[in-house]
Amino acid sequence: MYVEDTIAAIATPVGCGGIGIVRVSGPDASGIADRVFRKQGNGGLESHRFYYGRITDPADSSLLDEGMAVLMRAPRSYTREDVLELHCHGGYLVVQRVLDACLRAGARLSEAGEFTRRAFLNGRIDLCQAESIIDLINSRTEMSLAFAQSQREGTLSARLGEIAGVLRHALALIEAFMDFPEEDLDVATQGQIESLAGRSREELGALLESYAHGKVIRDGISVLLAGKPNVGKSSLLNALTLEQRAIVSHIPGTTRDVIEEIINIEGLPVRIIDSAGIRHSHDEIEQEGIRRSLEKLALADLVLFLVDGSAAIDHQDLELVQALSGKRFITVINKTDLPQVLDEKALPADAQAVHISSKDGRGIEQLRSAILSSFVSERVLTSRDHIAITSSRHRDILIRAVDALDKFRLQFTSGASGELLAIDLRESLAAIGEMTGETTPDDILDIIFSSFCIGK
Ligand code: GDP
Repeated sequence: MYVEDTIAAIATPVGCGGIGIVRVSGPDASGIADRVFRKQGNGGLESHRFYYGRITDPADSSLLDEGMAVLMRAPRSYTREDVLELHCHGGYLVVQRVLDACLRAGARLSEAGEFTRRAFLNGRIDLCQAESIIDLINSRTEMSLAFAQSQREGTLSARLGEIAGVLRHALALIEAFMDFPEEDLDVATQGQIESLAGRSREELGALLESYAHGKVIRDGISVLLAGKPNVGKSSLLNALTLEQRAIVSHIPGTTRDVIEEIINIEGLPVRIIDSAGIRHSHDEIEQEGIRRSLEKLALADLVLFLVDGSAAIDHQDLELVQALSGKRFITVINKTDLPQVLDEKALPADAQAVHISSKDGRGIEQLRSAILSSFVSERVLTSRDHIAITSSRHRDILIRAVDALDKFRLQFTSGASGELLAIDLRESLAAIGEMTGETTPDDILDIIFSSFCIGK
């Protein structure tokens, strides 16, 4: 529900900072400005202009801080309401006192995400865009930022709008026919309906498939370095991170603890885990390391299976190959700077192999690309519109929308009545509406906006 009162909150992070901002939104924003802000000279605040002045206590006009104020008149503001921003000195107490002054001047403390919720309810952004703002705030890499920005700008909403338009067209054709049930649907119209619904099914399916990428883009991937001792796992970790963090040694099995590093491949966060030499051993500490590594094997999204190109394959390598069955992995042949002894025919034939040298760095770039392309397709990387589904809410809704169209197809081919066909199309349209927020129930909105911080 939307109560048209005036809300206020601290918009900057709590703690020490250069400046702190208190944001106020609602019909009384300008009244509150009059009560807590004294600019130099006469007259009120003009919209979208920055004023220097004194922020004062509404009760006795005593000075709280000096700072800047900007009033953004509706609808040209974040919430499409009148918005006042008071910029004061940073620091916990100062900002808190300025907020307090606004509350005593008549504002109510906002709830989490309430500013963004108002932007949504006032039609400035749709729900997909509102949700992208959370992704935007939480972005840690360029790639997730690019996708979040694109969604915020409305590319996903626009795509959904197009699909809904096509579905509405198909629905209108069916409904027109329902008005004249005595007439048969002519073949041309039938074909048109089928192709419109089919096109929508395809587009929605593609969006649904993009979730696999979207999740990777948002959360990154974990990559496990696996291989028998001394094949060069720590050296590869170093080569990938360009930091001498893991201890490189000639003694097999010195990497006893599992070491992790986060690297950035074209903006994708990749967590590299150096397993402690997966192998059978009687050494107890070693055993502990192996247990952890095997656990990690299950958790990793991708395994880099390292073998030493300067030595022949042995039973330890082959044991590992067995443990890898069913996992996504890349075979990495290391030490290619040395004379090669390895018989590659003994390696798993179905997996791609990358030749590298952790020592002189050859092949490392190809390995980075291979890691990237095993998760993010070229199409996604080079797509200009950066559309990918990143939220499980969207995925669940798309599954419903696609299911309804699959049902439609079955009904259509079995010659079902227009009424039945219309139900499926409306169901798919309703799902799209839930995604963009046209028909999203209030309790779902509560959950979405409560994940924002107060002041956003
Ligand atoms: P790990 O036990 O699998 O972690 O192996 P390390 O990274 O500790 O490497 C074992 C030994 O192999 C060290 O002496 C490294 O210097 C050496 N080594 C690792 N990678 C290469 C490589 O590409 N070429 C050569 N010539 N030596 C390497």
